[in-house]
Amino acid sequence: MPFSDIIGHDGPKRKIRTALARETVGHAFLFCGEDGIGKRLTALRFAQALSCDAPPASEHPDSCGSCRACRDVAAVTHPDLLLIEPDREKANPQITIDPVRNIERHMIYRPLLSARKICVIDDADRLTTGAANALLKTLEDPPDHSLFLLVTGQPYRLPATVRSRCLALRFSSTTAEQCEGVLALRRALPPDDAGFLSRVAGHRIGAALNADLARLREQHDQFLQYCRADVPAHPTATLQRAEALTKIQRARDEEADLSKARHFSDVIDWLAHGLRDLLLIRLGAAHDLLLHRSRLSLLQRCAEGLDPEALLDLLDALHEMEQAPNRNLNLQLCLENFLFRFHQLIHRHAA
Ligand SMILES: [Zn+2]
Repeated sequence: MPFSDIIGHDGPKRKIRTALARETVGHAFLFCGEDGIGKRLTALRFAQALSCDAPPASEHPDSCGSCRACRDVAAVTHPDLLLIEPDREKANPQITIDPVRNIERHMIYRPLLSARKICVIDDADRLTTGAANALLKTLEDPPDHSLFLLVTGQPYRLPATVRSRCLALRFSSTTAEQCEGVLALRRALPPDDAGFLSRVAGHRIGAALNADLARLREQHDQFLQYCRADVPAHPTATLQRAEALTKIQRARDEEADLSKARHFSDVIDWLAHGLRDLLLIRLGAAHDLLLHRSRLSLLQRCAEGLDPEALLDLLDALHEMEQAPNRNLNLQLCLENFLFRFHQLIHRHAA
């Protein structure tokens, strides 16, 4: 059950199960592929399969998913499992040398209950150079009973020496159908909401499952309001809108206690999504690629006569805001600047 309820990723799942069946599981794997598509989940399922007390009788190795060991692995409280990850609330999340030294101490002992002592390193590309070098020493001479599962969206950021010690499993992105199917099942969303969330999340199941639908709808509705060329381009109105948009974001962030860096990139995301829709319409792309396909006529009116080059310039400006070395930039100021430029663009053509 547990492996089979992971949507997609048939290639990596098959390789893991073959290694389990033939008892040829090595000492280190590198799970690579986009963020939020199920790599970490697969790593934990792998750990379950090696720890389960009541594995189902089947030619395809798996775990029961419900015994004590399986539950402890899922909750990351199993004594033979160590999970290392960066502190994602920090502006520059890193895995420093101290937790890596702890890995050595943990992995040297034989497993208490499982077949293996397992160490999952999530966002392994966040290892500092010192930490990666310390890990390399362990990977070069791993204890017999050890298994390292490195999970990363950016494998090229890991030293080649670390990568070469691991068997790489590539996870490809899930499809729109797979993502919408999971959303319908797990979040009981109607097709319209499931389609919207899946597109916002780039069809990444993990990201879509965790996304805040109400907030996203609210933000995108504000953006759509702004696409109406009949709204006068009055500076005061623009300032008020920027303020309103900043407030939505702030209120939700305080609720969710998110870091400033995260809240900034959220805003960039939904503005970029809106611009992308307008650009796609201008370029005559298929409508099922649009995020706001339900508001097609509004977007079509807004996109009419817009210069694709000018839209690309605005997208560039957004990208630059995101890359700004100081992410604590005044969000409201950036939004004002963006909205002025955007409104100017729309009204130049509407006039
Ligand atoms: Zn079990």
